[in-house]
Amino acid sequence: MSPNTDKISSPGRVKEVSSPANPIVKDIRALFQKKHRDQQRAFIAEGLKLIVDALDQGWTIRTFVHAKTAGDTVSQTAARTVASGGDVLIVPEKILGAITRRDNPQMAIGVFGQRFQSLDEIRLTTGNVWVALDRVRDPGNLGTIIRTADAVGASGIILIGDCTDPFSPETVRATMGSIFSVPVVRCSEAEFTAWTVRASVRLVGTHLEGAVDYRTPEYGDRPMVLLMGNEQQGLTDELAGACETLVRIPQAGRADSLNLAVSCGVMLYEIRRDKLTLAGENPT
Ligand code: SAM
Repeated sequence: MSPNTDKISSPGRVKEVSSPANPIVKDIRALFQKKHRDQQRAFIAEGLKLIVDALDQGWTIRTFVHAKTAGDTVSQTAARTVASGGDVLIVPEKILGAITRRDNPQMAIGVFGQRFQSLDEIRLTTGNVWVALDRVRDPGNLGTIIRTADAVGASGIILIGDCTDPFSPETVRATMGSIFSVPVVRCSEAEFTAWTVRASVRLVGTHLEGAVDYRTPEYGDRPMVLLMGNEQQGLTDELAGACETLVRIPQAGRADSLNLAVSCGVMLYEIRRDKLTLAGENPT
């Protein structure tokens, strides 16, 4: 059922569009390019469940685009969008395909404003684990790390230096919705190292030359930052030198190293081992 525009909209908020050349559609399509995401400070999220989860978590939707053939949840989401001042676009499936560059597009797309936190907004309390990534380049790795950080209950992600865009469609897809629940900070390497000193952060780095087996340290409850290196070059010498401990995950076989996201997952599950139990999944 399509939303009943007479009931839910203030004039001009709900629009039916059939041409891919429509300027609003063009603006949304442009969000596939970083330049336009930066200009609009916006990003695209695909899929109704993800959009509903984002709204439930307090994100404000700028534009809700959906196919004509839609159900109750779509109508409710359209109503929520309009109520919060956003626009609703009802489009044929081919426009959803054109926006998302997919043959089988999701039936709903949301445009949201980007959110970044600053280092000084980080409040480190007992048991907190932040993940800091040095120049992460691969959107799939970043999205997977954000998703894994969410799964283990980590506090957030710190992007150091020239990183891939956390709000690119590839990264957002790989987060599977966790982009809406994991805070993201971005900073330069100098800002990061200055902050670790200022905030007396316990910094644990991962390094192929780390002398300590990753299972040895007592991670405990002291707030910490887990530092991961760039896919090609690993950690810079300065960042490695700033770490309290450099740990290594042992490997057999001929692989030089583990994939960044995989090694981050291994580390996070070790660090959070005592906090994660099946019984704790649904605390009463
Ligand atoms: N050639 C790079 C180097 O020399 O560091 C390989 C980087 S690796 C693909 C990317 C990141 O994953 C590393 O900087 C580290 O953070 C992590 N990593 C991968 N394998 C690891 C291992 N066995 N032990 C510890 N960290 C590892």
